Amino acid sequence: MATKAYGAQSGTTPLGPIDIERRQPGAHDVAIAIAYCGVCHSDLHQVRSEWEGTLYPCVPGHEIVGHVTAVGGEVTNFKVGDIVGVGCMVDSCQHCASCDEGLEQYCTGGGFVGTYNGPTDDKPGHTLGGYSDAIVVSDKFVLKISHPEEQLAAVAPLLCAGITTYSPLKHWGAGPGKKVGVVGIGGLGHMGIKIAHALGAHVVAFTTSDSKRDAAKALGADEVIVSKNEDEMKAHAGSFDFILNTVAASHNLDQFTGLLKRDGTLCVVGVPEHPHPSPSVGVLIFGRKAIAGSLIGGIKETQEMLDFCAEHEIVADIEMIPIQKIEEAYDRMQKSDVKYRFVIDSKSLADA
Ligand code: NAP
Ligand code: ZN
Repeated sequence: MATKAYGAQSGTTPLGPIDIERRQPGAHDVAIAIAYCGVCHSDLHQVRSEWEGTLYPCVPGHEIVGHVTAVGGEVTNFKVGDIVGVGCMVDSCQHCASCDEGLEQYCTGGGFVGTYNGPTDDKPGHTLGGYSDAIVVSDKFVLKISHPEEQLAAVAPLLCAGITTYSPLKHWGAGPGKKVGVVGIGGLGHMGIKIAHALGAHVVAFTTSDSKRDAAKALGADEVIVSKNEDEMKAHAGSFDFILNTVAASHNLDQFTGLLKRDGTLCVVGVPEHPHPSPSVGVLIFGRKAIAGSLIGGIKETQEMLDFCAEHEIVADIEMIPIQKIEEAYDRMQKSDVKYRFVIDSKSLADA
């Protein structure tokens, strides 16, 4: 199926219109007309080759929402017209221990297939993402959306930013009686604040931007700390059960491990272009503290997160853009100048 898309031909050329081909839906496939696609910092890292291994042409986008336009003969869970989402994965081996447990993001049978830049038999040999007007995805990787349809654009960022924060918050037990930090108030961080608050934790937001202090409270933070302010940081030393760090740039992690209680965990989800300076062992051993990582979330948990957010009336705070403004959006995201997620209106692809 001929499909309009937007992508880049190299790490140093701007994104522009590309015509791509989607496969005809197979027996287990769902074809989706994309209505909106969120803009994740991972899109920027990959399309500009900040991480190794980007394949070109690169069509980013893994926060996809839209309507089902066709289903294969074996598909029973979805029908034409349903409102659905697709996140960061479109396939995995389906038989390793991780896949069996619904943790496809940790698939050991060859790794999961990313929504873009992943291996596929479809042309051009790697997957092409949601900066496009349609996609065809195996039914196992399609999510049901139960939010009201008018909120659809603001639901898109849940497919990556929502699950990437929900999964570690749940895993490390964020909830009543727990003091939880969220570092970096961007796309991921603002969802982390909303979700940790809804889970019942005492939420402290850390930001480098003075201007986000009031906004962070409005998102659900009980307290806000400007992390450049040493006195504010010191006042919280040794007090956190869990800190979720979403920062997209290399920085000193000791600032945050120092704030953990005994047995506390700092979980990093940000994947900066350059490594963080080595954390100090001393800060970790005096308190049996841990630094951990977490990758998106499995399909079952992504559905659980979407249902949790619908029930708690949680959506992202978004700024809608036409696809033609994507380079401007990336430049602003790099300056932490977005409140809090850009979302592409896919209708704009018609003018591409
Ligand atoms: P984003 O919207 O750009 O937000 C990142 C935030 O980090 C900024 O808004 C800013 O918040 C803070 N920040 C930026 N530069 C900083 C610096 N030099 N020092 C301290 N803080 C800084 O990005 P995002 O889409 O949320 O993604 C965040 C990171 O997570 C990216 O690296 C992305 O690739 C990664 N990611 C990982 C996963 C996973 O599964 N692990 C999934 C999705 C994304 P303040 O203004 O509040 O300081
Ligand atoms: Zn993402």
